[in-house]
Amino acid sequence: MADLPDDLSPDTLAVHAGRGDLRTLGVHAPPLDLSTTYPFDDLDGAVASLDAMMEGRGPTAGGPVYSRLHSPTIARFEDGLAAMEGTEASVAFASGMAAITAAVLAARQASGGTHVVGVKPIYGTTDKLLSSGMLGLDVTWTDARGVADALREDTCLVCVETPVNPTLDLVDLEDVVRQAASGARGESARGPVPVMCDSTFATPVLQQPAAHGVALVVHSGTKFIGGHGDVLAGVVACSETWAGALREVRILTGANLHPLAAYLLHRGLPTLPVRMRRAEETATTLAARLHAHEAVSHVYHPSIPGRDPLGLVGTQMSGPGAMLSFELAGGFEAADQLMRALRVITPAVSLGSTDTLIQHPAGLTQRVASGEAGAITPGLLRLAVGLEDADDLWRDLLRGIEG
Ligand SMILES: *Cc1c(COP(=O)(O)O)cnc(C)c1O
Repeated sequence: MADLPDDLSPDTLAVHAGRGDLRTLGVHAPPLDLSTTYPFDDLDGAVASLDAMMEGRGPTAGGPVYSRLHSPTIARFEDGLAAMEGTEASVAFASGMAAITAAVLAARQASGGTHVVGVKPIYGTTDKLLSSGMLGLDVTWTDARGVADALREDTCLVCVETPVNPTLDLVDLEDVVRQAASGARGESARGPVPVMCDSTFATPVLQQPAAHGVALVVHSGTKFIGGHGDVLAGVVACSETWAGALREVRILTGANLHPLAAYLLHRGLPTLPVRMRRAEETATTLAARLHAHEAVSHVYHPSIPGRDPLGLVGTQMSGPGAMLSFELAGGFEAADQLMRALRVITPAVSLGSTDTLIQHPAGLTQRVASGEAGAITPGLLRLAVGLEDADDLWRDLLRGIEG
């Protein structure tokens, strides 16, 4: 089949990307290939293909050989996601944490340096992973303005996340990329220090970090990209050079996605733009109503006046997103009462599913994060808005707020 035209909008790419081989296969829907091994007739061809894959490239005419090296079902999802991110490639992993681990290992392997600069706040488990010493790394934590000063000769990676959890603060990625490439330490013989951005809360629908100079765009595919609460997955979108390094990490560490998970992720891509924009619209409505309610002391959503001081909605992000947090004036007791009164919204961690989830950051997701509590007060609740009717969700919240 002919290649797609190169002037397609993201919504069209979401529907068509990663499906280039279907016409040749004579099918309309992507097939699900669960093979763990692939027969070969020609030993030389299989060896040549194996060599190519061990070096991080795709299989040659000798075929995929073994599914830890390559899976056609996973490759289709990777092509689709890369098209949406505007990157040359993407590499999928068994979970978001596996993707983040692989990105860090690839950066370390590429430069030989073992120092990482981490911009806080960051996802609690990423914080713990980098701080633990488990990957043999030394980490310097800083805020988004302190990146240049935190660089060292042996810095191999800058890790940042935007929007941030649970305050939905937005980080200026171009500024972080500029800092990572600044000064004598940022411009070593290896070139500028690469930046990894966790873009899970935004998805490629709302922001494309690679367009701002980010080398490694990571997602927990478990969230909006999976979109239905039934897949654990991760993915890194990047250049073909980085993808080669990441595939090597994946082959050696074995943190592969299951093909069924990749099939489900790819099945969800065509509706990802529609789902994101619908959930975002509902989140914006709920944020405004919560902001106007006297029992609510703070609302954290970039649509609320003052919550986007750098003006990044409209430039870096196409909209404010589908996640919001709010603080009840009545503190922990009010938050606890609200969660117990809900009949539509489900109290649960995670986000990005079809249904709306609520959780209590002080008690759950931020427990593992080191450092000061900041905005994470006992009365804070985080809402991961789904696809229900906005008025139904509002009535459910009112049941909880007003008792
Ligand atoms: C969930 C999440 C992760 C981890 O992803 P898993 O798929 O659970 O491993 C990383 N970053 C962010 C922002 C997340 O929300």
